[in-house]
Amino acid sequence: MTTLLRSFVKSANTPTTDFPLNNLPYGVFSIGGDAPRQGVAIGDFVLDVHALEESGRLSYSGTLMKGSWNAFMASGKTEWVRFRQELTNLLAEGSDAQSVLEPHLVAMKKAALHMPFTVSEYTDFYAGKHHAFNVGTMFRGPENALPPNWLHIPIGYNGRASSVAVSGTPVRRPMGQLKGPNDDMPRFGPSQRFDIELEMGAIVGQASDGPISVAEAFEIIFGYVLLNDWSARDIQAWEYQPLGPFQAKATMTTVSPWIVTAEALENFRISTPEREVPLLPHLHEPGPMLYDIDLEVGLTPESGTETIITRTNYREMYYSAAQQLAHHTTSGCPMRVGDLLGSGTISGPGKNNRGSLLELSWGGKEPLEIDGGTRSFIEDGDTLVLRGHASGNGFRIGFGECSGKLLPAKT
Ligand code: MN
Repeated sequence: MTTLLRSFVKSANTPTTDFPLNNLPYGVFSIGGDAPRQGVAIGDFVLDVHALEESGRLSYSGTLMKGSWNAFMASGKTEWVRFRQELTNLLAEGSDAQSVLEPHLVAMKKAALHMPFTVSEYTDFYAGKHHAFNVGTMFRGPENALPPNWLHIPIGYNGRASSVAVSGTPVRRPMGQLKGPNDDMPRFGPSQRFDIELEMGAIVGQASDGPISVAEAFEIIFGYVLLNDWSARDIQAWEYQPLGPFQAKATMTTVSPWIVTAEALENFRISTPEREVPLLPHLHEPGPMLYDIDLEVGLTPESGTETIITRTNYREMYYSAAQQLAHHTTSGCPMRVGDLLGSGTISGPGKNNRGSLLELSWGGKEPLEIDGGTRSFIEDGDTLVLRGHASGNGFRIGFGECSGKLLPAKT
């Protein structure tokens, strides 16, 4: 399936749409003030699968009528495969269901998009080597940039599910305790170093109880979203030792509105980069479990035009989501349907491939040029947009946008 699958929905057959028939990502939408309902993106439209199950045209035990995809995920892999195959047939060019489906295609530009799933718990990792090396160099010098555990385990921390929000939700500049000028008395005020982290989020689609292997972990990842782990660097610098980030990361985490399934990404699998030191056997990658996904971030000032501030690729990660998930369960920690795993910031090797402003401006020492000015960190009124897609032959598997505008602090 490396070439475009043609749909009777014409806008799905263009090389630049994020949503060809090959993709079929799952979201939640509403029209006007109606209750949010499940839909599938196809070209410039959303297919209202809630209505199709309600009318009996689709039959998935009511899991398409829940207003979120958790129940469908819980129904298991056989159903995941059956649904995707059925949709592929129904939406294909020449489908005899075209006249039945057409009344249930909603123009995407008229739809409000909501969280596609209920986040059970959220864990964020620190598993991109370029990012860890850059940040470590800034904080501790190049000799001690990577902590001694880094090449052996994907380092992570438990984040907050309560502040995960869908693309388009504005983010408020946080207040917090900030280091004093001479390491003496801290002060309380708005963060002055508010930042993005360009990440991918992996969504757990089946529960686990007890340790699972990397291969088993790969099988229970339902799909992926773009993820922006908004980070207050000055709050982080003061609070992070010895237990890691806390309030610096708790303000908000933004995700893109469409769950791109692991199945849709199957042809874009790629191995993690070569190991610098061998991993212990329980974290070995038994096959290619990372994906080749081009990523970029745009910054648009309040009344300006967009500058693309970085371009990178998900293949830069040192650990795959499957390795992270397997590591997460080594303690016996059960995982639940709807758990969200952030990859860690995805920086590439070059100066223009860095996944955070902290790295792009090198801690504020080298402000970057944007349209109409410069930036070290995010300014009030700036809108940050993450985009990403895997490239097929004449088509792309896209994620839609993961965007957020920064509002001034409430002092
Ligand atoms: Mn992060």
